[in-house]
Amino acid sequence: EPRVFSGVQPTGNLHLGNYLGAIKQFVKLQDSFPCLYCVVDLHAITVPQNPVELENAIRDIAAAYLAAGIDPKKHIIFNQSRVRQHTELAWIFNCIARMGWLNRMTQFKEKAGKDREAASVGLFAYPSLMAADILLYRATHVPVGDDQKQHIELTRDIAQKFNNDYSDRIAELGVGVEMKVGDETVNGFFPLTEPLIGGEAPRIMSLRDGTKKMSKSDPSDLSRIALKDDADTIAKKIRKAKTDTEPLPDTVEALAGRPEAENLVSIYAALSGTTRSRVIEEFAGKQFSVFKPALADLAVEQIAPITAEMRRYSSDPGHIDAILRDGGERASEIAEKNMVHVRDIMGLLNR
Ligand code: ATP
Ligand code: MG
Repeated sequence: EPRVFSGVQPTGNLHLGNYLGAIKQFVKLQDSFPCLYCVVDLHAITVPQNPVELENAIRDIAAAYLAAGIDPKKHIIFNQSRVRQHTELAWIFNCIARMGWLNRMTQFKEKAGKDREAASVGLFAYPSLMAADILLYRATHVPVGDDQKQHIELTRDIAQKFNNDYSDRIAELGVGVEMKVGDETVNGFFPLTEPLIGGEAPRIMSLRDGTKKMSKSDPSDLSRIALKDDADTIAKKIRKAKTDTEPLPDTVEALAGRPEAENLVSIYAALSGTTRSRVIEEFAGKQFSVFKPALADLAVEQIAPITAEMRRYSSDPGHIDAILRDGGERASEIAEKNMVHVRDIMGLLNR
């Protein structure tokens, strides 16, 4: 059966990239699928975190999920560390995944920087935990930004190797499901999960550097529009956003080689729910002194209601904690049901 899983790390201020690339899709999908939306706190600790700030950051992400409109009664909102099976399955996947697979992951290379020897082992093994997050619920679809595509591919590789390595046992226990791999039909335990990378802006770039993605962990606050920014701050950041000096072109193709201009046009398109070519039609030949204020107005109009709702939820941390607790209990039930099978399949004696 189809099931959606996704997560956001409690690593700082949520930004427009997180909203347009991920959370906005989360909200849409809840009408069509059962969804689990996780605050992935165990991923956050792959780099150092202050404990008090981490607790608040976890609540902040939950508040954003709720503020964006995710229904915690119909779906499941929880934080990862509450459901112990995530770490259990992550260990198992560490033993399934190959060093060579993880060595190819570009996120590790970017996040570890120059001194790889000093990176945590957890940062290296991050994709195994992410595969565990998804496959623990046998999720079939994962809405993510474009930057996570490689990790979803790795998740499929892990699922496929597990299904393969244990195919006899899966058949013997009768716990598999029929699935298509290429033009073959196989009987596997874990689904081959599909990423849902949507919209006109699957990768929002930094406002300071059109070749770097907008990130929570970028040291420059001017590089991102935070969901918590007020109207003046949003306008200021867009005004200061790096651009070239040419006016906007009259075709989308002519944006090639102008990463900053392309990024702002994509943001405009994603926010207004149209295409980049529509935006170009409207602003062809216009200077950034005209386009930027229009973009700022649009951004404020879309973000301000979410910001206000986030504040409202954040004023009652007890309520958020209760939602995460309840979500954690419901997630644990699904997780344990699947883990009983995983342990059985692998011969980890638990009877
Ligand atoms: P960090 O810098 O700590 O990794 P982040 O901004 O990358 O933070 P994550 O919590 O790692 O945020 O990712 C949450 C979701 O947001 C993921 O689905 C990711 O693909 C998506 N996302 C992150 N940055 C962008 C972006 N610039 N454009 C579109 N989607 C994004
Ligand atoms: Mg990230």
